[in-house]
Amino acid sequence: MSSNSFHLAVMPGEGIGIEVMEAAHAVLGAVEERFDLSFRQELIPGGAHHYKDTGAILPKDGLERAGKADAILFGAMGWPDIRFPDGTEIAPQLDMRVAFGLYAGVRPIRAIPGVPPVLADARAAKIDLVIVRESTEGMFASRGKGEIIDGREARDTQVITRAVTEQLTDFCCGLARRRRETRGTPGRVTLIDKANVFRSFAFMRQVFHEAAAKHPDIEARHHYVDAMALDLVRRPWDFDVLPMENLFGDILSDLGAGLIGGMGFAPSADIGAANGMFQPSHGTAPDIAGKGIANPTAMILSAAMMLDWLGERHGSNAARDAARAIELSIDLAFGTMNLRSYDIGGRNGTREIGQTVADLIRSGGADPQ
Ligand code: ATP
Repeated sequence: MSSNSFHLAVMPGEGIGIEVMEAAHAVLGAVEERFDLSFRQELIPGGAHHYKDTGAILPKDGLERAGKADAILFGAMGWPDIRFPDGTEIAPQLDMRVAFGLYAGVRPIRAIPGVPPVLADARAAKIDLVIVRESTEGMFASRGKGEIIDGREARDTQVITRAVTEQLTDFCCGLARRRRETRGTPGRVTLIDKANVFRSFAFMRQVFHEAAAKHPDIEARHHYVDAMALDLVRRPWDFDVLPMENLFGDILSDLGAGLIGGMGFAPSADIGAANGMFQPSHGTAPDIAGKGIANPTAMILSAAMMLDWLGERHGSNAARDAARAIELSIDLAFGTMNLRSYDIGGRNGTREIGQTVADLIRSGGADPQ
C-alpha cells in the first residue's frame, strides 16, 4: 500500500460508541475527498452486548485482525448490566492495551475555543497539556489477579518495570520535542509520581531521569501526584507533557477533561511499538445512548490523532495535514460558528456536529496554511 492509503480496523462498540463513530466516519469521508488519502475500513464488532449474544467479547479472530490494520479506531465498549460471572466489567480495550503492548495512553487536554472554560482565569483558554498514562502496568497489572485472603484482607500489587519506564520516557521526550516544533510549547516532560512514599515510584523516578538524560534538549522534571491534582486546578496552563502511572493517569485525565468541557472533548491514543489504537476517553454512556445527543468531538479528535500518528509513521504529509485540518475545523465549529453540544448546555446533536466538521473540511476552510 502507498503511504497515503491506510487500512483501518473500526471498532464502534456499543452505546454512544456507535453514534460518535458515525460522526467520525462522516469526517473521514470528507478527509478522503479533500486530501490525497484513502481508507480501507474493516468493521470489527465487539463489547458487552456481543458477549451477551455470543459468549465472547470479540470475534475469534477480532484481535488478530485489529492487530494487522495500520491503526485501530475504537468507539466505546462496556455496559453496566452485562458483566463477567465474577462481576467485573467487559472492557476489551484494556485487554487490547496489554495484548498489543500499548504502553503510552496519550490524553491531550486542550482548551477548545468557544467551549466555556471551567476555570475563571483568562489563562484557561491557553490550557494545552498532554497526560501520558502508562497503560500496561502500574496498579492495573493486578487486574484479574488481586486476592482476598480469608475474607479478612485484600491485596493488589503494583508493577513498574525499567523497560516500560524507559520506553515511556523516550516516547514523552519525542512528543514534547514535536509539540515544541509544531505548537511552540516549552519541550518539558514532568513525571507524576509518589516517590516520597513508595519504592516502586522512587524506582520509576530514577529510571525516568536516567532515560530523560539521553534527551538533553528536553527539560525533565518530576512532581508529586497529590500536588499535581492541586496544580491541575490551580495552574494547568503551566504544564506540557505529563507521564504517569496507569491508575494516576486514569484519575487525573478525567480531572483534566473536566477542565476543558468534559469527557466529550477528551480524545486519546494508545500507542505501542507496532500498533496504535485511537478512542475517546469516555465510555458508552448508557444514560444518553440512542438519543443522538452525545458529543462526538472526542471521537473526531481521536481520529485526528490517528491521522497524525499515521502521518509520522508512514511519512505522509497528507495525513498530517488532514489531522491539523480536523483540529482546526473543531476549533472553527465551536469557536466561530458557535456550535454547542448538549453536554455544555447546547442543542447541537451528534450528527450535526459531525456534519459541520465534515463540511468545513470539504470546503477547504480549515486547510493548514
Ligand atoms: P467508562 O467506565 O467506560 O469510562 P463510565 O460509564 O464511567 O465509562 P462515561 O460513559 O465515560 O462513564 O461517561 C460518564 C457520563 O458522562 C455519561 O454517563 C454521560 O452522561 C457523560 N458523557 C460521557 N461521554 C459523553 C459524550 N461524548 N457526550 C456527552 N456526554 C457524555
